[in-house]
Amino acid sequence: MRKPILIIVAIVVIGALFWLSDDENKADLKKAAAVKQLQVIGNVASRMMDDDVAGGFHKIPVEVKELAPNVFQAKGIANTHMITTPEGNVLFDVGIAINAGDHYQLLREKSDAPIKSIILSHAHADHIGGTQIWKEDGTEVIAHREFIEANRYLNQMEPYQWRRNRIVFPWMPETPPESGPLAYEIIPVDTLVTEEDHEFELGGTVFQVLSTPGAEGDDNISLFLPEQKILFTGDFFGPLFPQFPNIFTMRGEKIRKPMEYINSLNKLIALEPEMIVPSHHDAITGKDNLRNAMTKMRDAVQYVHDETLKGMNEGKTVYDMMRDIKLPEHLDLTQEHGMVSWGVKSIWEYYATWFHFDSTTELYPVPVRDVYDDVAELAGVQALLARAQTKFDGGQPVEALHLVEMALSTSDKAQHPAAYRLRLDVLKQMLDTAVNGHGNNYEKDYLRRRIQLTTEALEEK
Ligand SMILES: [Zn+2]
Repeated sequence: MRKPILIIVAIVVIGALFWLSDDENKADLKKAAAVKQLQVIGNVASRMMDDDVAGGFHKIPVEVKELAPNVFQAKGIANTHMITTPEGNVLFDVGIAINAGDHYQLLREKSDAPIKSIILSHAHADHIGGTQIWKEDGTEVIAHREFIEANRYLNQMEPYQWRRNRIVFPWMPETPPESGPLAYEIIPVDTLVTEEDHEFELGGTVFQVLSTPGAEGDDNISLFLPEQKILFTGDFFGPLFPQFPNIFTMRGEKIRKPMEYINSLNKLIALEPEMIVPSHHDAITGKDNLRNAMTKMRDAVQYVHDETLKGMNEGKTVYDMMRDIKLPEHLDLTQEHGMVSWGVKSIWEYYATWFHFDSTTELYPVPVRDVYDDVAELAGVQALLARAQTKFDGGQPVEALHLVEMALSTSDKAQHPAAYRLRLDVLKQMLDTAVNGHGNNYEKDYLRRRIQLTTEALEEK
């Protein structure tokens, strides 16, 4: 309860300082006040995050590293990068809003030269959050042509996205901030990057801004410094390197195109980078190591893509293929972020869209769930739960879960606790299997959330 009050006090006090200093000669003071405001609000918001979170992104300490001469990285939930030149500085990604005040202060201690350009790798909130605080008169904002569309739909669909994202990122607050420095906003872009790419020179450093769509969305751009052979990739590779990627994500964003991703990977491999700097976690070095890892990722996605199309042409169902398609040993990659079976499903849906030609009922707004209560009444809840238990004991937890869901559709609430208890057992075992299997973070967090909801439902009984 005291934390929201703290935020309000911080806004009022620092806001007053901000407005009282409304004078051209006090521009620096205004800026300092705005930075302080963002730091205070950001630090309070950070402390409100739960400690026990998979991935632990929010526990990464905020600090600055010099990755190479004139190349600085401020770390946090997501990173802000600053490349300094004698004619001014260039930023690549500006982090999440709750880290942005700290990033600003720490990087400004390294150089307070004008910010000539801000390059945004894509429109996700954790990469654009510091734009307002960094932007000065004359700063050019550079983003992909598709950034405009991604920024629009992420803004317009924030309540929907937030609800879903909170399940897999449980550290997020309950509702999105609707206004103020932490809100997700539309960012005006000065220079749009197309498939032609965009190159400029500043203070003797060449900056190649590359269109690399297909990984975290069709608005991805990367930055290459050809003299230093440093490649900034935003979220192109995801949080781990190398990994099997999210071909498109179960969080429920726009479809991503698998072949576009492969083409972008080919473009990055051809650059022969000696250092890759992602916008989460640490930089990775070693020319051969980087080339081999990128090639393996490309070949793994190509393999899953080709196998899925082969199966589709042979008339296999998406479920057969989700079960059967596995990475061959020489292409084996961690599936902690992207899962091969979900990759198969997303490739299937990318090409085939919504109608599976499985049942006529798919054409109408009446899901099978609508007749679960009839099944429960005819079979009896106890019979359904007994069969669910048999399936569970026989190593078929998903089949058991289907039957439990039918049992739970009964309006006879007295029968619910037994169904919830069995659901809890099934979910816990599924979580165990996920932890000891691919360890996929999305699957683990989703199952943890379902376990929590089931536990709460049982406690209410
Ligand atoms: Zn990110």
